[in-house]
Amino acid sequence: MKVQDIPSRTILNPTGGFLGEGFTHTINLYRGCALGNSLCGLYCYAQWNPYHLQGRQWGSFLDVKEGVVEAYRMQYDRLKYPRSGEAKPLNIFMSSVTEPYPPQEHTTRRTRHLLEEMITRPPDLLVIQTHTPLVIDDLPVLQKLHERCQLRIHITIETDRSALPQPFPRQAYSPESRMHALQTLRAAGLHTVATVSPLLPLHDPWQFAKDLEASSHRVILDHYLLGDGSPEGKRTQRTTLPQLLENTGFAEWKTLEKFYEIVGIFKKVFCDADRVGVSREGFNADHM
Ligand code: SF4
Repeated sequence: MKVQDIPSRTILNPTGGFLGEGFTHTINLYRGCALGNSLCGLYCYAQWNPYHLQGRQWGSFLDVKEGVVEAYRMQYDRLKYPRSGEAKPLNIFMSSVTEPYPPQEHTTRRTRHLLEEMITRPPDLLVIQTHTPLVIDDLPVLQKLHERCQLRIHITIETDRSALPQPFPRQAYSPESRMHALQTLRAAGLHTVATVSPLLPLHDPWQFAKDLEASSHRVILDHYLLGDGSPEGKRTQRTTLPQLLENTGFAEWKTLEKFYEIVGIFKKVFCDADRVGVSREGFNADHM
């Protein structure tokens, strides 16, 4: 894994497409992803971005953006309080094409330093979308930020299985560790959302739904046929995920029939339909 610093003059990027209904901007403090060779890197849609790749292999590099706090400060003051007119809403999704809590965050502290700045310059809404339990390292700053803005923490757990059969890659962090992070954050009074995205084969859907219900205010389920940002999941069809599901006896999990069967189980367990979101509508909903 090659890790290098890169300059960054702007950090708030206007949204469009999948996130455009619920968010005004995305923030990505890294480029590339340290988890790119793990299970989620198999289907990750960010791997197709040639601007990010610049000829490199997904999972082989992590660019660490420099100057992000200064860039946020400058853009925030201009976007939030334009010289003419009223204060504008700032609804941020972090992150859309990288992981905000890679293992390197232990030393770079890019995400932590930005969150600390947000206590002074709070957005209206901040969603932190992560695949790792490392977010709980920032619990004290998250609790302060929670008092300054609407804060939602999304943790992705695509399956309750600790491993899918070979040759699926391993998961970077176990489902248990991510479930524990959700529990910790919720117990600390923060708003937690479990994102089962994309849904992968489950061992015990009812128990999984019960466990997520106990640790999360909401759940968002997605399937690659619905939510990979391309018609009929064409991006994911380019990966080995569909064929691996077929070859390992999980062909039914490629279908929307199976997906909606699982959505039905979650709706029964969560009791309240507002607590179970599906795909794009689920990510853009403003339920707190
Ligand atoms: S953590 Fe997110 S950005 Fe990184 S490889 Fe996995 S899905 Fe892609």
